[in-house]
Amino acid sequence: MMNGKPVRQRSAALYERAGRVLAGGVSSDARRGPGVPLYVDRAAGARLWDVDGTEYVDYVLAQGPMLLGHSAPAVVDAVAAQLGRGQAYAAQHPLEVEAAELVCRLVPGADLVRFNTVGSEAVIGAWRIARGATGRQKILKFEGHYHGWLDAALWSLHPAVDAAGPVDSPVPVPGTGGQQRSSAGDLVIAPWNDAETLTALMAAHGTEIAAIVMEPVLCNTGCIAPVPGFLDTVRELCRSYGCLLIFDEVITGFRLAAGGAQEYLGVTPDLAVYGKAIAGGLPVAAIAGRREVMDVVTRGEVGHAGTFNSNPLGMAAAVGNLTAIERDRDTIYPHLYRLGGRLMAGIREAAAQAGVPMLVDGPGPVFQTYLTPAAAVRDYRDFAATDRAGMGVLHRELLARGVNVVPRGLWFLSAAHTDDDVDRTLEVVADALRALRG
Ligand code: PLP
Repeated sequence: MMNGKPVRQRSAALYERAGRVLAGGVSSDARRGPGVPLYVDRAAGARLWDVDGTEYVDYVLAQGPMLLGHSAPAVVDAVAAQLGRGQAYAAQHPLEVEAAELVCRLVPGADLVRFNTVGSEAVIGAWRIARGATGRQKILKFEGHYHGWLDAALWSLHPAVDAAGPVDSPVPVPGTGGQQRSSAGDLVIAPWNDAETLTALMAAHGTEIAAIVMEPVLCNTGCIAPVPGFLDTVRELCRSYGCLLIFDEVITGFRLAAGGAQEYLGVTPDLAVYGKAIAGGLPVAAIAGRREVMDVVTRGEVGHAGTFNSNPLGMAAAVGNLTAIERDRDTIYPHLYRLGGRLMAGIREAAAQAGVPMLVDGPGPVFQTYLTPAAAVRDYRDFAATDRAGMGVLHRELLARGVNVVPRGLWFLSAAHTDDDVDRTLEVVADALRALRG
């Protein structure tokens, strides 16, 4: 330790080596930091250890997947049992049937499933299914909602507000250089949580729209639930214009409830996409939906493929993970909500004591800390008005004290977190907030 902060010599040396062989020194832009990123040595339960031996209470959880905690026996044992039996078949096997049966039992709107490897490709697959089922081209997407990094989806995530267009008719804003710009023509962009604007946009484009897609609780731009009545409007608009509703449950799936946001919100979409927490850390994604919609795949009218789809290691992990979730759901979810609630209340109190204007909001198993005096954040434009640079500083202050949160201020809880973890975290938060205030 130096000045109370851990020395990260091995991490720094690795980062320097990485910069010579990995573009930007990392394997995903989400891991670019200011400064030396975390170099993980191992992870267990709610803890991470970096290569310099520093221990962290982990609220990143691999950006969400580790619902049971790191190295959960239910997942490790299932993968270990499969390892010596082959790592890839690109053929059918019993575990994929079992995994699909579990998804269909847990998820209210899942009659039929297809597996993929990562969320980004499953989103595009669901959009293709929606287009095939409706014979329409356009997708309506909300500002600030993230649906993966592929060209067709990476629009209007975090645009500069003055580039985003008027709030009642936002324009598609590309997410990266090099993006195929023509895909914007297939999108209609809407502000989140604004029923009036959505209704007007549907009046203009509704008959061309194959599907409305959303993160049912927005978790990539703050953590913003739909305001009361908004989903009723969405459902009614889908019904009257004959378009489908797609929930992107890559974060919310198996996290907000065993049945994900569908169960949490009591709304059943036509199609849903899963990733992250479905397989306890192995790369597995799924498209799950209503039989009549998924039947375009059954009949071979809409193609769906992938060498690694239903990979046996991933399926073993999914079966181990989902079996534990199904068995223990009555303890896992109350635990996540109780600890999340404690943490949120404690952070609010610490911020008030430190005199730092902070809003803490979210369901509990995932939540957001915003640096803002505002009483609520309802959409991307509200989020853009919060102090995001300050949140980045707070993230670094927390990390330096052994608490790892998503840099933009998102926190994930796992079944492995304990009251002791929360106590320790709240002490660190109080200290980090004092340092932030200066
Ligand atoms: N959809 C949502 C809501 C996500 O949060 C993510 C990833 O963070 C994706 C899709 C893309 O998933 P993946 O990173 O597995 O491609």
